[in-house]
Amino acid sequence: MVGKSHRADHEVVVIGSGFSGLCMGVQLKQARIDDFVILERERGFGGTWRANTYPGCACDVPGVLYSFSFAHNVDGSRRLPTQSELLAYTERVARDFGLVPHLRVDTALLRALYDEPAGLWRLHTSRGELSARSLVIGSGVLSRPAIPELPGVRGFLGKVFHSAQWDHGHDLRGKRVAVIGTGASAVQFVPHVAAQAAQLDLYQRTPGWVLPRLDRQVGGLERWLLRRFAPLRGLCRATIWARHEARALGFVYLPGLARLAQRQALAHLHRQIPDDAALRDRLAPDHRLGCKRVLLADDYYPALTRANVELVSGGIREVRAHGIVASDGRERPVDTLIFATGFEAQSAFSAIDIRGLGGQRLGGALGGSVEAYKGATVAGFPNLFMIAGPNTGLGHGSMIHMIESGVTYALDAIKTLRRHQLRSIEVRPAAQRDYNARLQRRLARTVWGTGCSSWYLDRDGRNRTLWPGIGLGYRWATRRLDLQHYDVRGPGPNPVPCSVGASA
Ligand code: NAP
Repeated sequence: MVGKSHRADHEVVVIGSGFSGLCMGVQLKQARIDDFVILERERGFGGTWRANTYPGCACDVPGVLYSFSFAHNVDGSRRLPTQSELLAYTERVARDFGLVPHLRVDTALLRALYDEPAGLWRLHTSRGELSARSLVIGSGVLSRPAIPELPGVRGFLGKVFHSAQWDHGHDLRGKRVAVIGTGASAVQFVPHVAAQAAQLDLYQRTPGWVLPRLDRQVGGLERWLLRRFAPLRGLCRATIWARHEARALGFVYLPGLARLAQRQALAHLHRQIPDDAALRDRLAPDHRLGCKRVLLADDYYPALTRANVELVSGGIREVRAHGIVASDGRERPVDTLIFATGFEAQSAFSAIDIRGLGGQRLGGALGGSVEAYKGATVAGFPNLFMIAGPNTGLGHGSMIHMIESGVTYALDAIKTLRRHQLRSIEVRPAAQRDYNARLQRRLARTVWGTGCSSWYLDRDGRNRTLWPGIGLGYRWATRRLDLQHYDVRGPGPNPVPCSVGASA
């Protein structure tokens, strides 16, 4: 198949229809690039907000900010939008911006191969083959549930599921439920499970820092005002955005500042569990606040004080057919086992078999974390663009801001290819290497480099997840394609490196 045709089925193929894919689609349309499809392995738009339906699932960023700059969302019933409201928002954006005809649902990308002679990406999907001039990866890092291989877990005979694959047909009433993991997902659903189950055993490996959630209902008048007066809405967004950006100060520049927030979190713990010092001790984290994802919850600690809830904090020795043996040697009976153990974030971009020049695999043969230039492009992978790619995550604000920045950059590259009728652009290895050396030096000085284990770090302890700065810094870095760091190939049959003028 390779080298047969030089005409692509589509100018652009986008993988994933969450916020990244949606944003890319809208911006392609606004640039009058209509020849694109969005491949989605699920049944509709929404990405993480479609997959995660566990009880209590909601966003930690206020809805006024957690929406696109071109489609403000002021329809939420609460300050922090719920999963169903966010899913409805993504569907609305897709409809309003004409993306529905571009979506191919139930279509998983299985393999992508760069056909160098043709200058095309050849894609093998669960519904057949297609080709594209440019490939945009917008599938995110929190899409593949991580389920640890605990000793004996395969022999468990009760019901098992992961928080991102919640089984709503399974009635938890009267059941003995074990939840493994105490991260951002668990703190949201544990209170709901505790209210239904006969017994809930919560297996905690590392306690996280929990701050007050500061959620509230949004009244009809407030919604009307925000909807009616765009400047007010803009001011509101800007204020919340600036407040979130300020948090980067503590995470990135002055990790010592975290102590102030730690005091606030400990006061929250004390207020919510006033009568049980032993429980408080087991919930008190020993890492620097911010090193792991900070949790926001008002109903999590109170749920742990219920008579039918036990916090098991010593670790898991083995799983048996009908129970779990913890490190205290006791077997606690279990009917339903829920993994709240997060996602395979570090192998997110290498899990799909993506082959660039010379057949090299994205993330390497062992499927590790991926190093990219500006979180967007990778040497050896021409015309491949990532949205919310490596080192673009935020510990302090709205990912949508980062996504819009990445889309600006990818779109500029796609427009450059089109304007100059280029075969390919590919970031130079030296540019990628220097960029990442700088990035890692900066990351080492942040709170994420203070020694805790987290899903931000890869198996070699490198942070290939977070952006070491304020979101505005990434916005500036991605404001246009910096073509001087790219090898550009012209349209001829025997392409030679050529130089084109700076992009618009
Ligand atoms: P997570 O934050 O990665 O938490 C996973 C939990 O499982 C941790 O407590 C971890 O303990 C534990 N765990 C993992 N492997 C284990 C093992 N082998 N034995 C025992 N415990 C184990 O996952 P998540 O809660 O699904 O959240 C993932 C990310 O999604 C969040 O960080 C956040 O970015 C996003 N999220 C956001 C929201 C929101 O906006 N409100 C809600 C949910 C998720 P250790 O800490 O010891 O590793």
